[in-house]
Formats: sequence, C-alpha cells, structure tokens
Amino acid sequence: TLALSIDNLRKTYGNGFEALKGISLEVKQGDFFALLGPNGAGKSTTLGIVSSLVNKSEGQVKVFGHDIDSELTLAKLCLGVVPQEFNFNPFEKVFDIVVTQAGYYGIGRKRAGERAEFYLRKLGLWEKRNERARMLSGGMKRRLMIARALVHDPKMLILDEPTAGVDIELRRSMWEFLREINAAGTTIILTTHYLEEAESLCRNIAIIDHGRIIQNSTMKALLAKL
Ligand code: ADP
Ligand code: ADP
Repeated sequence: TLALSIDNLRKTYGNGFEALKGISLEVKQGDFFALLGPNGAGKSTTLGIVSSLVNKSEGQVKVFGHDIDSELTLAKLCLGVVPQEFNFNPFEKVFDIVVTQAGYYGIGRKRAGERAEFYLRKLGLWEKRNERARMLSGGMKRRLMIARALVHDPKMLILDEPTAGVDIELRRSMWEFLREINAAGTTIILTTHYLEEAESLCRNIAIIDHGRIIQNSTMKALLAKL
C-alpha cells in the first residue's frame, strides 16, 4: 500500500479561484517527501485536502489505502497534521494540549500522559509543560504543534512549512528530530519553499506551481538537473 495517493485532484475555492488544476502524486511508505514550490502554488491547499481541513472539488485521495471520502476515520487515524497556523488554545497548558489531543484518538489518560511526556521531552518542551501555550516562543509553539500531531503515533506526519520563521539553529535541531522519526518508520510529507530544506531532508520531491505538478522525482535527480 502507498502512504498517500492523489489522483487528479482539483480545488476551486468559493471565489472561483482554481488553486489545484488536477494534480496526481504518490508517496511510498517510509518516504520523506517534500512538496516544493513558490508562495501561492497550492501546497497548503493540497495538504489541507489530505488532512481534511479543506474540501476538494474533484479527484481521489487515499491515505494508506483509505479513501478520504468513504473511510475518513481510518484515514485520519494514520495522520498527524501540523498546519501552518497555530491552532491550539493559547490559554491551555502545554502538557494538557498534547494529552487532550490523545483523548480524541481514544487513548487512555495514563498512556496519553506517557506519550505526551515522551514527545515533549524529545522536543525540548518538558520544562514548559505547565506554561500556558501563549507564553511560548514561536519556535516552541511550532514544536508543540509537532508533539501534539505525534501523540497517537501516526503512520504519516504532514507538516506545512514547519520551519517558517524558525531561526537557523532551531531549524537544524527540528530537521534532526524529523530525520529521527522518519528513520523510526514514520512517513513524512512537508511543504517548503526552501530548496535547502528539501535537499537536506527529503528523498523524493514534487514541485508544484500554479496548481500543477511541474516535476516529480528523487531529490538527487532534481539536484543533478540544476
Ligand atoms: P471553500 O471554497 O473551501 O469553502 P472559501 O472560499 O469559502 O473556501 O474560503 C474559506 C476561508 O478562506 C474564508 O474564511 C476566506 O475568507 C479565506 N480566504 C479567502 N481567500 C483567501 C486567500 N486568497 N488566501 C487565504 N485564505 C483566503
Ligand atoms: P501555497 O501553500 O503553495 O503558498 P496555497 O495552497 O495556500 O499555496 O494557495 C494557493 C492559491 O489559492 C493562492 O493563490 C491562494 O491565494 C489561494 N487560496 C488559498 N486559500 C483560499 C481561499 N480560502 N479562498 C480563495 N483562494 C484561496
């Protein structure tokens, strides 16, 4: 089974704007995949549809073989999603945000606490566990989003511009963390407009521009062409 298959995906927004003009993609299990492209290309729209935050207009999306139209619950169980915008409750405490998320997946309180501790420690947030999320720096908020996305140990992690606005040093430690969880078997898809980020992390890439895939290859093949 593929981790993700997208077939002829189209999205026209309510205002008539055609953000995706029929894109097709496949991501294999265990891959580290980048969706690369300039601002406005359609990257967030694509990941938004895969994570069912955005409705598609046409086409088929399967997550680990589960069609998001007919098997949405199963598809969602496979996914951890880190959207670009911070969407946690800023007044909730860091630890509670992660544990509450685990509850949505039916994970018991004890195990939820253990998973939350594991990822908060890994992401350097354990000391901040009793802080309200609004008190965290931007980089910490991003890491909190990642801990929350991973708490149910999803098969695939989806990140939309994970290091936007993050300084170089923290970016490198986030890369290190992502490599580690990918090596442990989690499929990762991220969007970025930094070629350097894709180059450093990803095995396979698709380049999207004006709602169309203009290249889909291994990172190596892309670099050989440049
Ligand atoms: P849909 O067709 O998926 O229902 P809408 O067109 O209704 O999407 O827009 C959803 C939300 O996105 C609205 O709140 C809208 O204000 C906002 N929005 C509209 N245009 C843009 C844009 N160019 N970029 C980002 N968000 C936008
Ligand atoms: P990217 O992530 O590559 O920067 P997006 O998927 O966010 O691109 O946006 C693709 C295009 O769709 C952009 O031109 C954006 O302005 C437009 N767009 C995004 N959301 C909406 C919306 N809700 N309504 C109308 N247009 C939108």
